[in-house]
Amino acid sequence: AYLDRIEKYDGSVGAFLRYDTGRAIAAAKEIDKRRAAGETLGPLAGIPVAVKDILAERGQRTSCASKMLEEFHAPYDATVIARLKATDAVLIGRTNMDEFAMGGSTENSAFQTTQNPWNLKCSPGGSSGGAAAAVAADFAPLSIGTDTGGSIRQPAGFCGIVGFKPTYGRVSRFGLVAFASSLDQVGPLARSVEDIALLYSVIAGHDPQDSTSLDKPIEFATPIDKPLEGLKIGVVAEHFAEGLDSEVESAVREAFATYESLGAKLVEVSLPHSKYAVATYYVIAPCEASSNLARYDGVHYGYRSDQAKLAAELAAERAALEEAGERGAAEDLDTPLVRMYRKSRSEAFGPEVKRRIMLGTYALSAGYYDAYYLKALQVRRLIRQDYDKAFAEVDVIAGPVTPTPPFELGSLVDDPLAMYLVDLYTVSANLTGIPALSLPCGASKSGLPIGLQLQAKPLAEETLLRAGHMYQ
Ligand code: GLN
Repeated sequence: AYLDRIEKYDGSVGAFLRYDTGRAIAAAKEIDKRRAAGETLGPLAGIPVAVKDILAERGQRTSCASKMLEEFHAPYDATVIARLKATDAVLIGRTNMDEFAMGGSTENSAFQTTQNPWNLKCSPGGSSGGAAAAVAADFAPLSIGTDTGGSIRQPAGFCGIVGFKPTYGRVSRFGLVAFASSLDQVGPLARSVEDIALLYSVIAGHDPQDSTSLDKPIEFATPIDKPLEGLKIGVVAEHFAEGLDSEVESAVREAFATYESLGAKLVEVSLPHSKYAVATYYVIAPCEASSNLARYDGVHYGYRSDQAKLAAELAAERAALEEAGERGAAEDLDTPLVRMYRKSRSEAFGPEVKRRIMLGTYALSAGYYDAYYLKALQVRRLIRQDYDKAFAEVDVIAGPVTPTPPFELGSLVDDPLAMYLVDLYTVSANLTGIPALSLPCGASKSGLPIGLQLQAKPLAEETLLRAGHMYQ
C-alpha cells in the first residue's frame, strides 16, 4: 500500500531520491515466510522505514544529495541501518535532503526539490525534508533523519509530524556521513510520539564502533502514558521576542494552556544567551564541516574531475608560457594533482556547501581562530549553563520549533542569512547536546502545520516522550 502511494504521489512530492519496489516487496515476502514458519520476528517486522540518504547502507548509494557522492556505494551498514535490519524492518527507500545536511529547506539537494505535502508550493523544511515529507504523505509510517541544528525537528514541524533529536551520543553515528561532529545526531520521524518511542528504542544504545556513543542504560522502557500532574514546564521569556509570527505564537500558547489543563505547571524561565545561539552555531558548524569535508579530495571518495582534460589544460598553459619566454611561471603552475583536488571540489560541491567550507576555513585560520571559533566555544558553554540553570527548576522547556509556518519554495534560498534565522529555536539543543522533540500543535489560517518543541535535560528522554505523548 505504501509503495502504491509512492508510485502515485511521489512524482509531485519528491520525497525519495531512490526506492526499489522489487527489493521492498521481496523483503516483505521474506518476513511473511519467516512469520508463517513460526519464527519470532523483531519489533518492526514488515514495517517500512524510509532513510535519509546520509546513512551508509551496504551496497546502496549514499549520496548525501551531493554530486560529490552521486556514485558512492556504501561498503557497509551504518549501525542504525544494521539495527533496523535486525528488527526486520523493510527499508523502503532513500530520502532527499539538503546537500550534506546543510540547509533548512531541502532546496540545496543537487538532484531534486521536495515539496511540502500540505501545500506543494511550500518547502517541507530541511535538511531531512524528504524523510519528513515521506511520513506526512503516508509513503512510510516511519523514517530516519539527522539533526545537526534542527534538521529533524524543523521539517517535522513543517510537515505536521513528530520528530525527535535524542541526547548527543544516544544513537550511534557509525556509518553516518559527518557534517559537524560535535552536533550531529541521528533520530526518528513518525506520526505519533508512540511510534517515535518505538523506533527510538530500536536505534538507541551503546555502540563500541562510535567513540562518542554513550554507555548508559536507556530508561524510557517505563510506559510513556503516565499523567502529567506535577510536571514543571518552562516557558522561555526570550522565545516570545522579535521575529516570532503571531500565528505560531498563538498555537504555542494554546499548547501551554492544554498542558495546564493536563495538570502540568507552567514556570517562567530565562535563557539569556539564546540570542547568540544562531551566530554561535554558524561558526561552529561550518568550522567542523570544513574539516570533515576535507576528505572529499577527488581521490579517496566520490567525484573526480576529468584527469585527461586537466592534463591537457596544464600542457597547453605550460606551452603558452614557455613560448612567451616565461619559463619560471610555467614551472610554478599547479601540479595535476592540485588541479584535480581543486577542480573536483569546485565541480562537485554546491554553493551552500562551498560557503560553509569557506566560512569554516576562514574562522579556523591562524589569527582568526581565537576571535571566532574559540569565542563560539565560550558562548556555547554559556548557553549550556543557561539550560542547566533552567532545568534545575523545570522538567521540560516548551516553545516554538520555528519562528514562522512553512515558507514558500524559492523564497529564502537566495538569502542565506534569512535561511539561517529559521534555526533560531532549534540550534541550542545541538549546541548543548540535550534531547528535543517537535510535534504538531496547530495550523496557520492557510492550513499549514505549526510545531511545538519540547526540550529536556540530557538523557531525560522518558520525560520528554511522556510529555509529548500525553499532549498528543
Ligand atoms: N539548518 C541548519 C543548517 O543548515 C541545520 C541543518 C541540520 O540540522 N543538518 O546547518
